[in-house]
Amino acid sequence: MGFTLVAPDQPKEACALLARSAPGEISVLAGGTDVLPDVEAGRVRPSRLLSLRRLPWRTLGWNGGSLTIGSTLPLREIEADPGVRERIPGLAQAVHAVGSLALRHRATLGGNLGRAAPTSDLLPILLTLDAVVNLVGVDASRSVPVDQFVVASRSTTLRPGELIASITIPEARPSQYVWQRVRPSNDISQVGVAAARASRPPYWRIALGGVVPRSIRLEGAERLLPAVRPLVSELEAAAALAARLAPFATDKRASEAYRRQLVGILVRRAVASISPPIVPPVGVA
Ligand SMILES: Cc1cc2nc3c(=O)[nH]c(=O)nc-3n(C[C@H](O)[C@H](O)[C@H](O)COP(=O)(O)OP(=O)(O)OC[C@H]3O[C@@H](n4cnc5c(N)ncnc54)[C@H](O)[C@@H]3O)c2cc1C
Repeated sequence: MGFTLVAPDQPKEACALLARSAPGEISVLAGGTDVLPDVEAGRVRPSRLLSLRRLPWRTLGWNGGSLTIGSTLPLREIEADPGVRERIPGLAQAVHAVGSLALRHRATLGGNLGRAAPTSDLLPILLTLDAVVNLVGVDASRSVPVDQFVVASRSTTLRPGELIASITIPEARPSQYVWQRVRPSNDISQVGVAAARASRPPYWRIALGGVVPRSIRLEGAERLLPAVRPLVSELEAAAALAARLAPFATDKRASEAYRRQLVGILVRRAVASISPPIVPPVGVA
């Protein structure tokens, strides 16, 4: 079945087109790395594709310590930005983890959020950065914390006629994203762990990808790290709790038991690379 491509240059016009369409009639196209394979395979059969390429959302801007990224900026431009690499290293690492270089020249942050896959490499780091998703609709705009934006696997709080305009990261944080996969590139992570350290207490955020039904923060484990630099014993306890609490499942990529073992190692590695843990002097418990 054929489809027509529409590419408005005004956000309100794009939202109005979406709002007027029947369910399934129109598919939103950003980089197309998820949606075009779906169209080709017949998993979706839209009569129109709504391209976002002409909308003014291919942006990246700092306001003091806060960063706002337009939803249609290709991932490669985020990863290559010197400010992002220096001030929010975990975000650059997570973006770098997505597919191949060619894919990252097309794929966008808005598309990754819109897809809301439990295997996303970007959701865990956005959770640790307390990111906010800025949405635009026909009549109103609103902002939603990323942990409320994704409600379940492939399901978001987007309302009919709404689009993701941008994502705001309120504070640049020392951060780290570590992941494990069978093949380093062009594969999906078996587990991804993000960690970030806020400037004020509570300092630590730890989030997981590769869990079901969606990426989550591990607040129980975070609470075991009360200070900027954890004690070795605190980090060990947090990693062990993370491994126990994580809602893993067995799938074609890895078993639940393997993922559980992995997550303890990755939590330890992510937190220690931000703040090396304090080793008590010999003889002190
Ligand atoms: C070979 C391959 C490897 C991959 N590897 C990884 C990986 O390692 N890690 C990972 O996380 N992902 C991976 N992906 C998934 C994919 O590339 C990402 O999810 C990508 O960020 C999607 O962005 P896009 O712009 O291409 O989205 P699109 O395909 O254009 O859109 C995806 C979905 O989001 C919706 N959408 C897009 N933009 C908006 C918007 N502004 N507002 C509202 N809804 C919107 C669309 O309607 C669609 O449902 C891979 C995909 C492929 C094909």
